Amino acid sequence: MNNKQENHQTECRLEYMRPEQIDAAQQAYPAIYVPFGSIEWHGQHLPVGLDTIKAHQLLVELAEKRGGVVHPAIYYSSGGGHNDFAYTFMYDKELIQKLVVNMLWHFERSGYKVAILLTGHAPNRLEYLIPATITYMDQGGKMDVFSLFEGQATRKELGCGHACRIETSMMLKQFPDTVRMESLYGEYDEDILEETEIHNWMTSEYQEHPCYGIVGTDPRTGSSAALGQKVTDEVLQTFEDWLDGKIEMHIKHDTWTLFPCQKPFVSRVL
Ligand SMILES: [Zn+2]
Repeated sequence: MNNKQENHQTECRLEYMRPEQIDAAQQAYPAIYVPFGSIEWHGQHLPVGLDTIKAHQLLVELAEKRGGVVHPAIYYSSGGGHNDFAYTFMYDKELIQKLVVNMLWHFERSGYKVAILLTGHAPNRLEYLIPATITYMDQGGKMDVFSLFEGQATRKELGCGHACRIETSMMLKQFPDTVRMESLYGEYDEDILEETEIHNWMTSEYQEHPCYGIVGTDPRTGSSAALGQKVTDEVLQTFEDWLDGKIEMHIKHDTWTLFPCQKPFVSRVL
């Protein structure tokens, strides 16, 4: 595959591209990237589509840097502990598994050689991305497919949590207008945590707390666009390392179940 600089594309979002732009992009670099996420409670201060928005923007930045096209984001999610929270929509994993297998075949038949399936909602990975990728491989699929949660592409301290400091920082970096930090402060300021502490604000006793539904680090401490940039740099580096064949993923033996970011690598399917 040629490198991106040779055929710079100004538009990488598939839904906005005309046929000749798609052909040129594919000739330059036959890769397609698909963001997955959720519509899910992310605290009072963040938008419900955060997981998907963040994955989409990361892949747009990858495509701008490296080439390839970005498929429209898939907001259908499955799994996780927020099923009973307001503003949260979860779906049967079998439905989405089938959709993803179909998508991979469309991509292969359209000439793509490489696909990155990136989820910003961690459970999607084991609920449907990995099973769908394995089904596609078992059916004889030939593309290299990299299926991961974005937290796996970073060091542990930068990858975990829900609506925590990291996700808040990602939004402050990507779309700051969507974040409302003021809604985190007020009555409960005395329990603001130190930077190294983590906590679970998902239980019902926190229903009135501004951090209700958050898990991990405290977004009231140290959230910044600069931290979001740091996470972005690490994620993009992991993608580039995979695209360059520097890291590998043995998808059928992947045993990750709980905290994906404890597994420091992932990668190219056979
Ligand atoms: Zn999230």
